[in-house]
Amino acid sequence: MSKKKLLTELQAKKLKKLGITSTIDLLLYLPNKYNDQTVIQTINDSLVGGKSQIEVNVNDLEVKYRPKKNLILYVSDLTGQMQIRFLHYYPSQIKQLESAGLVRFYGEVRQQSNYKEMIHPEYSLVNDSTGLSKNLTPIYSITKGLSQNMLRKLIKNHIEGATQKELFKELFLNLYKKYDFPSFMDSISFLHEPPKIKVDDIENIHNSKFFKRLIYDELLAQQLFLRKQYNLLKKNKAPKFKHAQPKQQIFLEQLNFKLTDSQKQVLEEIQNDFTKGFPMNRLLQGDVGCGKTVVATIAAIDCIEAGFQVAFMAPTEILAEQHYEKLINWFKDTSYEILLLTGSVPKKAKLETYLKIEKGSADIVIGTHALFQEAVTFNNLGFYIIDEQHRFGVEQRMLLKNNSKNLQGFEPHQLMMSATPIPRTLSMSFFAHMDVSTIKELPGGRRPITTKVYLDDKRRQLLNLIDEHCKKNNQVYWVCPLIEESEFLDLETANDTYQELEKYFINQKVGLIHGKMKAEEKKEIMKKFQQNLIQILVATSVIEVGVDVPNATLMIIENSERLGLSQLHQLRGRIGRGEKSSFCVLLYKNKLSSTAKQRLRIIYENTDGFKIAEEDLKLRGPGELLGYKQSGLPTLRFANLNRDLVILENARNDANSLIEKNDVRINEHMKRWLRNFEEIVTV
Ligand code: ADP
Ligand code: MG
Repeated sequence: MSKKKLLTELQAKKLKKLGITSTIDLLLYLPNKYNDQTVIQTINDSLVGGKSQIEVNVNDLEVKYRPKKNLILYVSDLTGQMQIRFLHYYPSQIKQLESAGLVRFYGEVRQQSNYKEMIHPEYSLVNDSTGLSKNLTPIYSITKGLSQNMLRKLIKNHIEGATQKELFKELFLNLYKKYDFPSFMDSISFLHEPPKIKVDDIENIHNSKFFKRLIYDELLAQQLFLRKQYNLLKKNKAPKFKHAQPKQQIFLEQLNFKLTDSQKQVLEEIQNDFTKGFPMNRLLQGDVGCGKTVVATIAAIDCIEAGFQVAFMAPTEILAEQHYEKLINWFKDTSYEILLLTGSVPKKAKLETYLKIEKGSADIVIGTHALFQEAVTFNNLGFYIIDEQHRFGVEQRMLLKNNSKNLQGFEPHQLMMSATPIPRTLSMSFFAHMDVSTIKELPGGRRPITTKVYLDDKRRQLLNLIDEHCKKNNQVYWVCPLIEESEFLDLETANDTYQELEKYFINQKVGLIHGKMKAEEKKEIMKKFQQNLIQILVATSVIEVGVDVPNATLMIIENSERLGLSQLHQLRGRIGRGEKSSFCVLLYKNKLSSTAKQRLRIIYENTDGFKIAEEDLKLRGPGELLGYKQSGLPTLRFANLNRDLVILENARNDANSLIEKNDVRINEHMKRWLRNFEEIVTV
């Protein structure tokens, strides 16, 4: 018996285009929708506006120009006549249909002036062996050179092959039984060609136990992978830091504010991790302006007092600079050596800094990723903080991890900070390899931000508004966000706006800052804004993350309809940081798309970052929200975190107990479910 080859090379290539590189990928390539081709309707009964399948004779055909070439078929059954129109066709199809005999057409029926018509239907020739399908017909998203029929056949063959070979033997029978799930192969068969019961729309099918089985398997794999990582990390050794209570007290006393309860709580969680002897791997999340920096800084005291070094990494030079200034000020009465290391630090100073880091005299080093990219060796790094972690790619985080090993074989403690609040389902799933701390409140005394959404033609009124704010000695941001496809134009907008404002406001100093400027220049401008030497700052989105000028009370954002929710929220978070009321104006150009409308509504109605993040998750899905595409971690193909919380909770608990029992089936399950399993890394 010859071994039948299941795939030709060409097919394999086409499949790869669809992201299919293995048998399980193919089995899991589910239809987008289904046709009901289980019944045949007569032409007479076929419903106008609905989809029907008819079985007819082709009586005649012709090519007509209307104005493009159309192929028209004249068909009939015992009850009447109909026209079929193809907008695209191959010459070979004319031949085929001319002499076809009985043909089945499936498509939407339209009523023309005095005849019924079907446009561009699917069709198949009928011969003696053609039975009528008992199941719904799957419609896949396809690619050029791989037709529906070819893909259907391929998948069908593979399903049969897999069933025969027991390729997908059930691994966790007891668990599947617990939830009353059908078997994997039953689920696959069902989902590709569901029997014609009432499951005729995709929602229903997604609610079926067959689909839920896949969701569960997928989430179980994710949880196994991440929880394993979580446990593995705890096997490493990290230095222990005692709680440096007296020093902390002194620090708190020189602050001009009191920590919120939420800040105290997360600080305790961090400090508790320090005492355990294995590395902390913690995500500190909290809305913009909730005060994460100060928490991380206080934690750093424990590390320094234990004789270890702290690294503090920020995604931009402006932000690194700002943290540096802040920490210098907070620690001015201590003997701590605090250094800044960014790309634009002059070479000589850099070399000195390297030396101090290597010798161990530097206590805190603040920098951009330059901090870890170059030949920097820490003497005894004990704790590193990554601000705005989602801004860093995997490679950067890997570099950091590799370069942060200690001489004594210790791993440093790691704290990631994120101002993009992560909804609970997301942190339970994608962040299952970390501990998560959440600052739930903003410091008291903050006045809420009022947001207005204006059509772009209100510039005059805006000038008055700016004037009002400036008269109260407040400062203003005017943001012209950089929009990728036309960087040049955006810059022009920012430039024009700057000139316009400068001409108009004679008594105020207007500044301009954008990403194309030299780092030195940017710093200079930011410093002036911070010191209120500039009152109105025209900016591209370089000011999006972290920038902290509490005296700024008005922000105008141009082209707001083109920005994502989290970006808008981040930008708006630059104001409302002091005790004065703040005001944000979102300008949009006419003709909003419906998602743009939704986004602006959400940002208008909400100021709570968690609420906004939840809405964002609904709009965009987790992959986009987390930037997971570039992170290297597998995204979820079936689970929908807005819908599948219960399954997620189950999968997480089950994963934990499987790991605890060191179950031998874990790896097999992960191999089946995680694409590129061998290559995935988490950092
Ligand atoms: P984010 O969490 O967005 O990084 P920051 O750490 O930049 O927020 O803090 C925002 C501002 O609030 C800073 O000026 C910070 O010093 C100040 N701040 C932090 N905690 C408090 C507090 N408990 N009360 C008042 N102001 C605070
Ligand atoms: Mg911050």
